[in-house]
Amino acid sequence: MSEKERSLNFIEHIIEEDINGGFPRGKLRFRFPPEPNGYLHIGHASSICLNFGLGLDYNAPVNLRFDDTNPEKEEQEYVDAIKRDVEWLGYEWDQECYASDYFQQLYDWAVELIKKGKAYVDNQTSEAIAAQKGTPTRPGEDSPNRNRSVEENLDLFERMRKGEFESGSHVLRAKIDMASSNMLMRDPVMYRILHKDHHRTGNDWPIYPLYDWTHGESDYIEEVSHSFCTLEFAMHRELYEWFLDNVYEEGRVKPKQREFARRNLSHTVVSKRKLLQLVKEGIVNGWDDPRMPTISGLRRRGYTAASIRNFAKTIGIAKRENLIDVSLLEFCVREDLNKKAPRVMAVLNPVKVVITNYPDGEKEWLDAENNPEDESAGHRKIPFSREIYIEREDFREQANRKFFRLKLGGEVRLKNAYIIKAEDCVKDSEGNITEIHCTYDPLSKSGSGTEESMRKVKGTLHWVAVKHAVEAEIRVYDRLFTDPEPDGHKDKDYMEFINPDSLNVTTGYAEPSLKEVSEGERYQFQRLGYFCVDRDSEPGKPVFNKTVGLRDTWAKLQDKK
Ligand code: ATP
Ligand code: MG
Repeated sequence: MSEKERSLNFIEHIIEEDINGGFPRGKLRFRFPPEPNGYLHIGHASSICLNFGLGLDYNAPVNLRFDDTNPEKEEQEYVDAIKRDVEWLGYEWDQECYASDYFQQLYDWAVELIKKGKAYVDNQTSEAIAAQKGTPTRPGEDSPNRNRSVEENLDLFERMRKGEFESGSHVLRAKIDMASSNMLMRDPVMYRILHKDHHRTGNDWPIYPLYDWTHGESDYIEEVSHSFCTLEFAMHRELYEWFLDNVYEEGRVKPKQREFARRNLSHTVVSKRKLLQLVKEGIVNGWDDPRMPTISGLRRRGYTAASIRNFAKTIGIAKRENLIDVSLLEFCVREDLNKKAPRVMAVLNPVKVVITNYPDGEKEWLDAENNPEDESAGHRKIPFSREIYIEREDFREQANRKFFRLKLGGEVRLKNAYIIKAEDCVKDSEGNITEIHCTYDPLSKSGSGTEESMRKVKGTLHWVAVKHAVEAEIRVYDRLFTDPEPDGHKDKDYMEFINPDSLNVTTGYAEPSLKEVSEGERYQFQRLGYFCVDRDSEPGKPVFNKTVGLRDTWAKLQDKK
C-alpha cells in the first residue's frame, strides 16, 4: 500500500475502488444538499468540507443543492444564509440546484411508476396507514387501496395534483413490500397533499414529494456520482436504490449513496430544529448570535474559515457517532489567530494607576510590535503617560511569592514600557481600591538598550493610558449549555441545561489604535484572549466579541467545581 492509500479515509477508499473498477474519473461529481429550514451549523461544516474537499482532491464539480420539499419550514432567508456560509468557508460550487426545480420531472416519473403498477394512491388516514405498518418483527398489512387499478390511480393522482383534495387526505405510495424486513420498504409515501405556498414555486404545487423520493432522483438528474449522507440514512439506502432502479436509463451515471457519522459538538446542540427553538424563545439574539454553533455565529464570534476547515479536517470522517469536545474547536481558532491576529492592549476590568514620579501632562509614544509571530506585521506606537489603567485582578495589596503581578512594594514591567513599583493605594469609604500609586524607573524603558531595560522582573502587565483610552463594549461568552451533551439525556430536555450566564457585557478600555475598526477585524488583547469587532460597533465606539481565551481555562474551571 502506498503512503497516499494508507492515509485515505473510508469515503476516499470507496471512490478509489470505483475508479479502479472502471468508473471514469471525469464523471465524478459530488453535492452538498442542505434543507433551507435553518442556518448551517458546525456539523454541516464537516459535510461541506468533506464534499467540497473531495471536489478539490479529485478535481470534480460539487453542486450546492437545496432540498426544498417542505414549504412549511423553508424560507428564502435560509437559502441566502446557506450560500453566504458555504462561500465564506472558502468553497465554490459548480451548479446551484433546487429539488423544487425537479418537481415536474418527479411528477412525470411518479406517473410512470403508477403505469407500471408500482405506485398507488391511498386515501386512508395517516393513523390507519401507520397502524398497518407492522413492526420490525411483524409484517405489515396491505392497504385496502393497494390494488386499485392503474386508471383509477392515474385519475386520483392527477386530481391530487390539480388541488381537488384537502391537505393530508390522499398520499401516493410506492408499491414495494409490506413484509420487508426494512420498514422503510413497506410501501413508503412518495407524495403528500399540502396547500401551502413554496418559497420558489409559489402555489404551483398542492402536492410535495417526500425526501426519499426526491433525494436520489435529484442526484440522478444532476449526475452526482457519490451521494454522501449521515448514518441515519443507512436504512434508506435500499429505498434510494429501488427508486433509482425504477427511473434509471442505461448509460447514465447511477449515483451511489454512502453514509458517514454525524458530528456532534460538546456543550451545544447541532440540529437546526433545536437551534431554531433557541432563536424563537429569545435564548439567543438570532441565528448569528456568537454563542450559536452556527457558521454565522462562529464567524461573528471571530472564528476564521481556515480554523473551521482545519477543525473539520482534524476530526475527519468517521463511521460511528461520537461527541467532539468544543475545546478542540477552540484550539483550532487559537492556533490560527496566534499567527494572524495583531496584538493590542485593552483593559477589561480597570483600576487606575498613578505614576507619581512621571511628569504631569507629559506623554510619549512607545514602540510596540504588532505580532511577534509575524515580522511583516510591523510596529505601532502607543501612548504612555502619568495615569494608566491596569486590570484590577493584577494588583493585590499583599500576596505570596507566587503572585507575579503587582503588589505593594513589588515591581512589574508594563508591556512595551517601564518597570513600575507599587508604593501605596487609595480606597473609597467601602474599602474598594480606587487608585494605585506607583513610581517608575525612567531608565527601564523596553527596547532602550540600557542595563535597566534588560532587568528581569517576574511579571509583565498590559495597560492603557487613561487619557488616550478608547471605551469599548466587550462581550464575553461562556458555553451556551452547562452539560457536555445537553440533548443526550433521556429524562431531561436540552432546554434544562441552558447556561444562564453565557453572556457577560462589560466596558473596557483599549489603546487608541482601536478607535476606528471595522466589522470582523480580529485582535489579540494581550494576556486576555482573541477578540473580534462586532457589527454593532459605531464610529469611535467599538464593540468586541471575545472569540476565545489564550489558554484552555474552561477545563481547569470545571475541575475546581
Ligand atoms: P438538522 O437536523 O440540523 O436539520 P439535517 O441533516 O436535517 O440536520 P440537512 O440540511 O439535511 O440537515 O443537511 C445537509 C447535509 O449535511 C446532509 O448531507 C447531512 O447529512 C449533513 N449533516 C447535517 N448535520 C450534520 C452533522 N452534525 N455532521 C455531519 N454532517 C451533517
Ligand atoms: Mg433535516
